[in-house]
Amino acid sequence: MEKCDRCGKEFDEKIEGEKFESETGLIYDNLALTLCAECAIDAMDVMESGIYFEECTKCGNAYDMIADDAAFEAVYGKTPEHLFGTLLCFDCAEEAYEEYQEELLNTDWMDEEDEE
Ligand SMILES: [Zn+2]
Ligand SMILES: [Zn+2]
Repeated sequence: MEKCDRCGKEFDEKIEGEKFESETGLIYDNLALTLCAECAIDAMDVMESGIYFEECTKCGNAYDMIADDAAFEAVYGKTPEHLFGTLLCFDCAEEAYEEYQEELLNTDWMDEEDEE
């Protein structure tokens, strides 16, 4: 049995983990704390940072997905996952966004060329 870091409840990690994953679509093992499903789901609901870490698909580093997604969304209006369909840390997402903008500019320029 595991003991929840938040509420102190003793719980079966397998059962609570499955509950968490089916509710949130996230991976229970990525949680930095030992949390029962209820506390873990609550933390995700309020977008608490410092708890849930994902591996960046570009640089391979673990990053705080909640914090990085929120920071990126504040600047660009969407999460990296929405924009690029993949999980990226803030730095890689910014890089990907710049490349994406450049591609758009290049495409516009080429379209103009075609019209002439
Ligand atoms: Zn708990
Ligand atoms: Zn990265």
